[in-house]
Amino acid sequence: MVQRRQTPMRCPLCGRELVDVRIRYIGDVTARLPWQLHAGRCPEHGWFQAEVISKPPREIFPVNRPGGIARRVVIEGKEIYAFPTIWNSLDSRQEVDPLDPRYWEVDWDRLGVRPPQRAAA
Ligand SMILES: [Zn+2]
Repeated sequence: MVQRRQTPMRCPLCGRELVDVRIRYIGDVTARLPWQLHAGRCPEHGWFQAEVISKPPREIFPVNRPGGIARRVVIEGKEIYAFPTIWNSLDSRQEVDPLDPRYWEVDWDRLGVRPPQRAAA
């Protein structure tokens, strides 16, 4: 059985589960802070990436490939290079599970645009 890579990250645009998920572990095992780079692909909207350094990511980046450069996404005519997460607006000193999906959700209020049409849950 193939072990599937798990990430709380969803496509910021459609909320779909990502495919081709890659999780890169950075930093050595003795380091106290878990440092991971999560990347995954939405079949419709391309690659997205986020960095976990003992806390949930503050932003999710659209990228051209895993570990690649940021690309531009246009929503309602607004150019977006990063999607702020709910975590971005919270007190970052609090101790939380960095992989709790609640904190990985996109903070659309902060972004100032309406979320695109979501696939039915
Ligand atoms: Zn998508």
